[in-house]
Amino acid sequence: MKPLFVIQDEMFYKEDFLDDITEYDDIIPIIQERAKLIKLDIIECTDLNDCCNKTKSNLYGEIVGYIDEEENFIFQEEIEEYRKQYGEKFLNLYVIRIYKCLSCKKWIIDIME
Ligand SMILES: [Zn+2]
Repeated sequence: MKPLFVIQDEMFYKEDFLDDITEYDDIIPIIQERAKLIKLDIIECTDLNDCCNKTKSNLYGEIVGYIDEEENFIFQEEIEEYRKQYGEKFLNLYVIRIYKCLSCKKWIIDIME
């Protein structure tokens, strides 16, 4: 089984994804491009994880970026370059958050806009 992407030696398999992965078709390549730079932390959620109800602990990683009016994703580090090229466009904050349950290893993607 080949993982979709690997973050800090942690494998993320399509089979373990909790939602419909096809809804994240444009997000997965962004994560794959950045996977080596993402840092995973362990965080506690307030409620037990829905997937197995066994733990509140999750591996958590995020990618902070922006979406322009044409729905292009721009990494935070590319903002300067983007502005030089396109000027002062209106950009929406767009954070891709990845949570992986420490008990059953199921994972989700949550987008914060
Ligand atoms: Zn779980």
